[in-house]
Amino acid sequence: MTQPKWTLLIHGGAGSMVRGKLSAEQDEGARAGLSTALDAGSAVLAHSGSAMDAVSAAVMALEDDAHFNAGHGAVFTYKGINELDAAIMDGKTRGAGAVTGARYTRNPVLLARAVMEHSPHVMLSREGADEFSREQGLDQVDPDYFATPERWRQLEELKAKKLGWYDIDMKYGTVGAVAVDNDGNVAAATSTGGLTGKRWGRIGDSPVIGAGNYADNRACAVSATGAGEFFIRLGVAHEICARMRMLGDDAKAAADHVIGELEELGGTGGVIVTAPDGTATFSFNTPGMYRGRATSAGEKYVAIYGDE
Ligand code: ASP
Repeated sequence: MTQPKWTLLIHGGAGSMVRGKLSAEQDEGARAGLSTALDAGSAVLAHSGSAMDAVSAAVMALEDDAHFNAGHGAVFTYKGINELDAAIMDGKTRGAGAVTGARYTRNPVLLARAVMEHSPHVMLSREGADEFSREQGLDQVDPDYFATPERWRQLEELKAKKLGWYDIDMKYGTVGAVAVDNDGNVAAATSTGGLTGKRWGRIGDSPVIGAGNYADNRACAVSATGAGEFFIRLGVAHEICARMRMLGDDAKAAADHVIGELEELGGTGGVIVTAPDGTATFSFNTPGMYRGRATSAGEKYVAIYGDE
């Protein structure tokens, strides 16, 4: 079978989504959001745009959608504010940019990209990241823009039930995209509010290059979602690329192997992976993952539950 010229994969988080548990609004709203994001990224790729532009466009659409834990609709910290993390990586140059704890940039993925393209650095944090964002002229918003009643309710629930470090339902809602373009270049982008009730400046895997996000034309592009601490410990995104590059694993074998190792440590979550030849895969050990795929062959697939 000939591989498609371009491929786009997206996710909107992995977690305990099973049929009947999500409300009709959550199910339909998330599917519509995933579809919109696929369209945004596909439009770029269909016009011979770059994988970098495609993953930026897809992640921006997911950041703008309150169904997902990134940008508008991000989860709250223990202190009741939204602190945003994002990363992007270009597989052609292995250039990378990331931000953590950003509070005022409407689309954090664009800030991560500005770090990559307009600074000598890879990762900026908190007030410094916000200052850089203003200097770059990126769209600024009042922090209230990110807040939604549903995320506030989730914080109150976590506090009332003393649910501990993680959201008991494991509703990871991080968003991400990976793509290969017509030129065979891959890219990955990831954006998140992190975990509900996070404290002490906690940073997950999403903005950590090699953990939650990685791209290398010699192997693949990866974006992850799940219990970030485990993804950092395994260097999940880089590990998948390394297995493909050095062991010759295909995308599915590499992703399944590393998610298996994650599970052995007690971690949950998932990844999306695409290789320069267009092969692409989802791998997750949670009941569901918000996900979608579009290709130049006209395929468009959106799913939530594990059996779809
Ligand atoms: N991986 C994210 C974190 O640990 C959470 C998520 O995937 O929703 O911050």
